[in-house]
Amino acid sequence: MPGGVNSPVRSFKSVGGTPRFMSKGEGTYVFDEDRNRYLDFTASWGPLIHGHAHPYVVKAIINAAESGTSFGTPTDKESKLAKLVIDRVPSIHKVRFVNSGTEATMSAVRLARAYTGRDIIVKFEGCYHGHGDLFLSDAGSGLATLDQPATPGVPQTIVESTITLPFNDIEILKHTFQRQGDQIAAIILEPIAGNMGVIPPNSRFLETLRSITETSNALLIFDEVITGFRVARGGAQELFGINPDLTTLGKIIGGGLPVGAYGGREDIMAMVAPEGSVYQAGTLSGNPLSMAAGIATLELLDDPSVYQKLDRMGKKLELGVMAAAKESGVSITINRCGSMLSLFFSDQDMFCFEDVKSSKTDLFPKFHFEMMENGVYLPPSAYETFFVSTVHTDDQIDEAVGCFNRAFEKF
Ligand code: PMP
Repeated sequence: MPGGVNSPVRSFKSVGGTPRFMSKGEGTYVFDEDRNRYLDFTASWGPLIHGHAHPYVVKAIINAAESGTSFGTPTDKESKLAKLVIDRVPSIHKVRFVNSGTEATMSAVRLARAYTGRDIIVKFEGCYHGHGDLFLSDAGSGLATLDQPATPGVPQTIVESTITLPFNDIEILKHTFQRQGDQIAAIILEPIAGNMGVIPPNSRFLETLRSITETSNALLIFDEVITGFRVARGGAQELFGINPDLTTLGKIIGGGLPVGAYGGREDIMAMVAPEGSVYQAGTLSGNPLSMAAGIATLELLDDPSVYQKLDRMGKKLELGVMAAAKESGVSITINRCGSMLSLFFSDQDMFCFEDVKSSKTDLFPKFHFEMMENGVYLPPSAYETFFVSTVHTDDQIDEAVGCFNRAFEKF
């Protein structure tokens, strides 16, 4: 396997040292092959909102597997999950399941181009939308981690039909639309960025995106692969009260199994084959195991107290970590949205990718190592999000804060 891994950031290339080979997950803990136990805030990069091997989710997967893993036909479970998604996400009237977030974003962009008859896609520095060709310049997540501004192998024509703007910068956005608005098919963004650390949208950003796309007949795509079902039952769009035209989902709707989805306005989604002519397909799309895990995961999120608990735990962690850093005289900033949070080695506010890059990301490798030594597993990158789950307890957050404390003392 290139670099020994099947997804680049797992290799620990940016933090150094040997990646932990995990062999077991149980609730909020993961265990490596050497039987070390870690309190986990990576959550498999977001999907595991109910922690590892949640009994309700596992049972649903086992039950589904016993009846056959894939048929390549429509199934009742697909309809059930589709209904759960449509009922929860305000702007989704029709949905198509795929196998990953990358498939979802690539398909949504194709659909937006077909619908508008235009080619140009606007995206934002530090956002990550998977590894589709057009998303690979100035992106967050693994590309930021590996300091890779662009990727060889992407045709020039695709680079030319992509515009990458600074996140949260309304003036540059307006200027771009004044110049090229009639050629822009869509804006795609993470409504709360989670792939350059957590960067929430500033107060007018999302509204401006909504109005500018409406005025220029371009589509607005919210990539809610991370934020979907994480920041609110209906995702970031519910939280901020902004309805995009299309939404991409992944992670949590698969409950830890491979899944993605895209959906949105009825008239746009009706263009997808076989209803319309925009082709997109998948042998294992909507497979019963992923659907069963997704259904169980969303059902567990129906308890009205769940999002309050996620927010309370996130806040407790944020306050604890801030206090721990202060005690050791380490300057940090924490950005948090409910149960997603990230830590920047800087005392400045973080609004965009440039801000994040100006923080002391070089301190992160040592910090990550110290945290692991203290029994906490954080994502191995300065540009990622820590995730709190519904099964983290007050005691575990206290335990984690103690570990942060000990790690900060080394700085
Ligand atoms: N969009 C966002 C916002 C993501 O965070 C990710 C993955 N981290 C993707 C798309 C791609 O999803 P996948 O890795 O399932 O292809």
